[in-house]
Amino acid sequence: MTATADIRTNLLGLTPDELEAFVVGLGEKPFRARQLLVWIYKRWVSDFSLMTDLGKALRAKLALCAEIRAPEIVSEHASGDGTRKWLLRAGPSDGREQAIETVFIPEPGRGTLCISSQVGCALNCSFCSTGAQGFNRNLSTAEIVGQVWLANARLGTGVAGERVVTNVVLMGMGEPLANYKNVLPALKLFTDDRAFDLSRRRVTLSTSGLVPQLYRLAEDTNVALAVSLHAPTDELRDQLVPINRRHPIKELLEACWHYLEAQNGRSITFEYVMLDGVNDSLTHAEALTRLLKGHDAKVNMIPFNTFPGNQYRRSSPEKIAAFRDYLNSHGVTATVRRTRGDDIDAACGQLAGQVHDRTLVRLGTRSISVGVQA
Ligand code: SAH
Ligand code: SF4
Repeated sequence: MTATADIRTNLLGLTPDELEAFVVGLGEKPFRARQLLVWIYKRWVSDFSLMTDLGKALRAKLALCAEIRAPEIVSEHASGDGTRKWLLRAGPSDGREQAIETVFIPEPGRGTLCISSQVGCALNCSFCSTGAQGFNRNLSTAEIVGQVWLANARLGTGVAGERVVTNVVLMGMGEPLANYKNVLPALKLFTDDRAFDLSRRRVTLSTSGLVPQLYRLAEDTNVALAVSLHAPTDELRDQLVPINRRHPIKELLEACWHYLEAQNGRSITFEYVMLDGVNDSLTHAEALTRLLKGHDAKVNMIPFNTFPGNQYRRSSPEKIAAFRDYLNSHGVTATVRRTRGDDIDAACGQLAGQVHDRTLVRLGTRSISVGVQA
């Protein structure tokens, strides 16, 4: 075991208050933490030796006991439409190399970063390639935060000095609420003005519906919420999103409305993957309307992104349009997610980037889906 790598604290995993405690623990004044925060989150500098206002002794001390380390880049892909995808090494676990994916989706006036919260996912939704891989491990707070830090460091600022990453969505690999302990401090860093300083409406957590954690989330944070509904009846949702057997739709929706009330939120986005002949009829649209009408809810329809070894097909554009129009004309706002980054196999929502024994496993052709509106 090498001495330094294992005992150094990765500062990307600390909230501003924790960073202050860390600095004080080193025998330094609390204002040193504020200086560090500026270097880390306003200038995207990771090398302590460049942090000139810290003083030589402190810089040397930090170099021994701390680090600012984002996940290492395995590969970077740029799409013709401006979308970028990074395959990132998440460190070995059980002796096997792990990798995750992070995707940046530029649009006029905003840039959305889609990040991962786990390597794989245990929830096994039947239409999801991450679920098909099974669960490997939770990402640490530093690894979650590191994805956003890395994108900012690499993308820099726009021509007029404006920030490039304006929105963060937890819609990559994994179920964020199944990694609550590490995700919560990351959410705090995203919205804290001493760190990433994003408005709460520009940070979206997407969940398949872990009801107890949704109630905790309502106590602990106020970010935007997206919920993977995908079916309007328990019978169908039990098949598509197996966690529904434990937390059925009624219970889930109660937790959602509670979240909105507790957080004084604007609305909840319900994701609905369009699977040909499975959940895309007007009867389904009608049932979905009955569930959501009168609530502050929006539906974001996601054309299914296929991958090898699954039984589903994407609904036709006509069916998708008819479903959307039904919802919109019956009082439920619905939009269809645009697919992006087809040429680099990047799909927000079902990214698959494991590396086992240093062999890259890629799961077929996918396309990217743009995150939720701020
Ligand atoms: N685990 C969380 C967040 C990651 S998945 C969740 O399930 O919400 C992000 C979104 O992508 C979810 O709505 C998920 O259902 C959707 N998704 C997963 N696989 C997909 C696929 N093959 N095609 C389209 N959307 C998919
Ligand atoms: Fe996990 Fe979300 Fe995929 Fe379901 S859709 S398996 S919860 S990542």
